[in-house]
Amino acid sequence: MAFEGLSEKLNGVFKRLKSRGKLSEADVKEAMREVKMALLEADVSYKVVKDFIAKVTERSVGEEVLKSLTPGQQVIKIVNDELIKLMGEANSKINFPNKPPCIIMMCGLQGSGKTTHAAKLAKMFKKEGKRPLLIAADVYRPAAIEQLKVVGERAEVAVFEMGQIDPRKIVKEGIKHAKDYGNDLVIIDTAGRLHIDEELMNELKDIKKIAEPNEIMLVVDAMIGQDAVKVASSFDEALGIDSVILTKLDSDTRGGAALSVLAVTGKPIKFVGMGEKLDEFEAFHPERMASRILGMGDMLTLIEKATQTVDEKDAKKLAEKMQEKGFDLNDLLEQMKQIQKMGSMKSIIRMLPGANKVTDEQVEQGEVQLKKTEAMINSMTRAEREKPAIIDPKRKRRIAAGSGTQVSDVNQLLKQFEQMQKMMKQFGIGGNLHGKKSRRN
Ligand code: GDP
Repeated sequence: MAFEGLSEKLNGVFKRLKSRGKLSEADVKEAMREVKMALLEADVSYKVVKDFIAKVTERSVGEEVLKSLTPGQQVIKIVNDELIKLMGEANSKINFPNKPPCIIMMCGLQGSGKTTHAAKLAKMFKKEGKRPLLIAADVYRPAAIEQLKVVGERAEVAVFEMGQIDPRKIVKEGIKHAKDYGNDLVIIDTAGRLHIDEELMNELKDIKKIAEPNEIMLVVDAMIGQDAVKVASSFDEALGIDSVILTKLDSDTRGGAALSVLAVTGKPIKFVGMGEKLDEFEAFHPERMASRILGMGDMLTLIEKATQTVDEKDAKKLAEKMQEKGFDLNDLLEQMKQIQKMGSMKSIIRMLPGANKVTDEQVEQGEVQLKKTEAMINSMTRAEREKPAIIDPKRKRRIAAGSGTQVSDVNQLLKQFEQMQKMMKQFGIGGNLHGKKSRRN
């Protein structure tokens, strides 16, 4: 996974910082030297590292931090803040023009993931209700057209191709086709080379003139490290790019590109590719990336949030009640409300270590499920919540109708609840699914 090495090193530095009650300016400076090495090793560009360290040091050696009760934590927070600033604000918006179609031109070196990401983008926008058309303008590799057709089919998006003829003509005809057939989004897959050369740039410039794209997106492979930033700068100088898609962040990259692209080129990373599959694709979230880099940083926030939102007295009361009477659906509802107070499910899941494997789609499904469960419990009477065993088929139909769900959803909830109670019993907490008062033996 990307950033593993960097995360590990930073965590080592932070652990040492936190283990000290007091910090001196020299301690901070020593720690910053280590952070600097770690960032350089992760392939973050030198100038970016220098500026970053200067900023963090300046903010960290102030009295306020050094004299605080938790100076180590404060320094980590400053590093986190500055990492986020370095990557800019979350911004994955594409400005759709008033008059369709919106035209996105994809460019990048061969093998960067251009074709795959053209399809990923198309699939994402299709889900949002757009009617994308992919144009196959990468004509030098015969396999490229075939590949776009394959991924287009997977994304269930139309692909416009004219074989290996002049890509300028293909783009012209493709856009005309989109207008004729009501496609409101056109994504052009252009050719790439192994290196940037004049001929390629001239072709891309011509295509830009013909297509008048609303957005030129550069696809960059994160695995090429420092070179990713060089590629981005060259494409920007020659062609003018609007944004970057950073790919292959699932692989073992050192990740420096994610930290340097905006600072060096001034162009934001809008999306990141996390795998070969079409839904392994996400909007770029600097704060999420920073917490991934800091590894445990987010767990701290999560714990902080939990202590802020969960009232200790309430928690104790619930524990006592559960010992006494068991856990019923009222308690489940209460717990769900407590969790929701901490923020959206998405924000909570994203704070857990390993959460970068969870797709946005899965999180959304979880959120929908949570809402459904809440609605179902809210549609139950007090007696039903306390004693779910009384919920017969007639009651199930009423609950389903009341909560806008299906009887099968109600069945599933009851079954899951029963399993939860079984588990709790194993921990010595009584369950009263059948309305019995069961105490610990
Ligand atoms: P193009 O030459 O720029 O069009 O690149 P392709 O879309 O053909 O991608 C090159 C290779 O990288 C293919 O084998 C893709 O499956 C793979 N690939 C693309 N994006 C990702 C990604 O985000 N993660 C991983 N692991 N592989 C990717």
